Amino acid sequence: MVTWNSEADVVVIGSGATGIPAATVAREAGASVILVEAQPRLGGHAIVSGGNVPLGGGTSAQKKHGIHDTPDLVFQDLTDWSVVQPNGFPDYRYNDREIVRAFADNNVSTYDWLVAHGVTFADKAPDERGGISVGNSVPREMHCAPLHWPLAHTGKPVDEAQRKTYSIGAGFMYPLIDAARQAGVDIRPEHRMTALHRENGTSGRITGIEVEHRGMRLNIQARKAVIIGTGGSIGNVNFRRMFDPRLTEEYCGLAGMPWSDQDASGEIAAMAVGAALWGLFNQTGEFGYGLTKAGHIGCQYGYRHLAWGPESEVFALARASGLWVADWQNVILVNMLGRRFYAETGGQFTANNYNSIATYVPGSYLNAKNIKYDPNNFINAAMAGIGDGHNGGGPIWAIFDAEAVAREKWVPKPPFVDMAEGFFFVAESITELAAKIRMKYQRLPMPPEQLAATVARYNSFVDAGEDTDFGKPQPRYKIATPPFYAAWATPVLHDTRAGLRINARCQVIDMQGAVIPGLYCGGESAGGFSQHGLARCAVQGLIAGRNAAAEAS
Ligand SMILES: Cc1cc2nc3c(=O)[nH]c(=O)nc-3n(C[C@H](O)[C@H](O)[C@H](O)COP(=O)(O)OP(=O)(O)OC[C@H]3O[C@@H](n4cnc5c(N)ncnc54)[C@H](O)[C@@H]3O)c2cc1C
Repeated sequence: MVTWNSEADVVVIGSGATGIPAATVAREAGASVILVEAQPRLGGHAIVSGGNVPLGGGTSAQKKHGIHDTPDLVFQDLTDWSVVQPNGFPDYRYNDREIVRAFADNNVSTYDWLVAHGVTFADKAPDERGGISVGNSVPREMHCAPLHWPLAHTGKPVDEAQRKTYSIGAGFMYPLIDAARQAGVDIRPEHRMTALHRENGTSGRITGIEVEHRGMRLNIQARKAVIIGTGGSIGNVNFRRMFDPRLTEEYCGLAGMPWSDQDASGEIAAMAVGAALWGLFNQTGEFGYGLTKAGHIGCQYGYRHLAWGPESEVFALARASGLWVADWQNVILVNMLGRRFYAETGGQFTANNYNSIATYVPGSYLNAKNIKYDPNNFINAAMAGIGDGHNGGGPIWAIFDAEAVAREKWVPKPPFVDMAEGFFFVAESITELAAKIRMKYQRLPMPPEQLAATVARYNSFVDAGEDTDFGKPQPRYKIATPPFYAAWATPVLHDTRAGLRINARCQVIDMQGAVIPGLYCGGESAGGFSQHGLARCAVQGLIAGRNAAAEAS
C-alpha cells in the first residue's frame, strides 16, 4: 500500500520540450497537473537547443511564403524507405507508420498552439537550416526568436538587433514555461522520479510515481495518468551500450549536459512495470547527430553547437567553454596510444533535409541509387580503439603547437580549457606532453616515443605535401613550435532516437503489445520515430497531454 504525499489528475515527468507542453495542455483541459523536474533548473535540453523547429504540413508560416505542404507529404517524407545517407544508412526506413502519421496530422495544430502560447518564430520563410531529418519535399524549419530571454549557455540575452532573428531554445522554452505557470501547472524542480507505481506490479493501471526530493522519498498519486518526458537515454552508459557496446564511459561529453542529463530514468522505470522498447535500429543508424565529432576541444562538453560561457548558471559544472576548431589542418588527432587514426578534416554522419537529395522522387529507388557513396567513417575510426580488447575507443586528443594557437587565435587557458579535470595539457616538448596526459579515461599511459614518432611522421607529410597514412588533403602545418598542447577531442553523444514503445495516442505499450493503462510518453524517451529534436517532442507532448487529461479518474 503506497502512502501518497500529494496527488493530481495528471503527473508529468520532465520540464523539457515534451513535458511542458504536455502539462500545459492537460491543465487547460481541466486536469490538475503536477510536473516534476530532476534538476534545480527547468527546460531540459530544449532550452539549450538551437531552437530550430521542423513543423510543416501546411502551417500559416508556410502558406504566407507560398510553400505548399500537407500532412500526407510530411508522412510520406518521414517514412520514405528510399532516402539514404551517402554511407548507405536510411533516415526514415524504420520509422513506425502509426507514430509518424500522428505526428504529421498534428504539425499544424502544434505550430498554432506554440504561437498561441508565446513562442515567437522568426518572421521569415521556413527553410532547411539548423534542424535535421525533416524530409525532402518542402522547407519546414522554423526558428524560435529569443526575444529578451537569457540564453542558457551564456547567461545573457542576445544583442537587441538579433532578438527576433536569432534561433535558440530559450525562445522556445521560456515562453512555454511561463504559459505552464499561468495555466496553473504545479512545477516541482529538484524532484527526481525514481519509480512508477502500478496497481499490481506489472499489471493494472499506473497509479503514480515515486520521487526523490533533497534526500526524501515521496509518492505522488496520478488519478488519471503519468506522462514520461524524461528526454532519452544516451547519457546512461549501461543503457546506451545495449545498442552499441562501444559507447563506454569516456563518451562523457553529452550535448546539453550539464544543464540536464539523458539518464534513461524514464525508460528504466517504465520497463520495470512492463513497458517495451521500440524502433531500435534508429538508435544505431549512422545518420544525424547521435554521435558527433567534437567541435570545441579541451573541455568535457565539446558539442559543436554549444559552448558554455562563464556567465551561464551551470558553468561551475561545465568548467570550460572549449576551443572552437575553425580549421582541422591546425591539429592532428591521436588515440590513447598517441597514434593518428583518420584524416582530421573528416566529418561526422550526415542527415536528411529539404533538398538534400537532388531530383528527389518520393519512394523511388533512384533516390538511393543516385546518392554518391561516401563512407564518412571518421566517427567509427575514432571509436575503433587500440585493439586491447576494450569496447570503447578511448580518449581522442588533439595535438598542436604554439603556431596553431596563434593561427586559431585561441587562448589556451581557463576558462576556455579544463586543466583541473585533465581535459587539457601543455608541455615544452612532445614527449613531456605525452607523459603528462593522465586522467580518469586514459586507461593506458600514452607512450611518449609513440607520440613523438607520430608528430615526426606527420611533419614529414607536411614536407612531402601528402598524407600517405590517411589521405588528409595536403597537410599544411608542422607541429614544431613549443609549447605543445593536448586537448580532449573525443566524440560527443547527442540524440536518443529509440525508446519506449508508444502508439498514436502516445500511450506506452507493454511487451505483449497491450496498452499500459494510465501511462504516456513522448519525445526522446519514446521510440519508433527517427527525427531530431523539438518538433516530435512538442507534438507528442500535446498528444499525450490531451489524452491523459481525457482519461477517467
Ligand atoms: C545543444 C543542443 C542543440 C539542439 N538543437 C536543436 C535544434 O536546433 N532543433 C531541434 O529540433 N532539436 C535540437 N536539439 C534537440 C532537442 O533539444 C531535444 O530533442 C529535445 O529537447 C528533447 O525533448 P525531451 O522533452 O525529450 O527532453 P528534454 O527537453 O531534455 O527534457 C527532459 C527533462 O526531463 C528531466 N528529467 C530526466 N529524468 C528525470 C527524472 N527521473 N525525474 C524528473 N525529471 C527528469 C530532465 O532533467 C529534462 O529537464 C538540440 C539539443 C541540444 C542538446
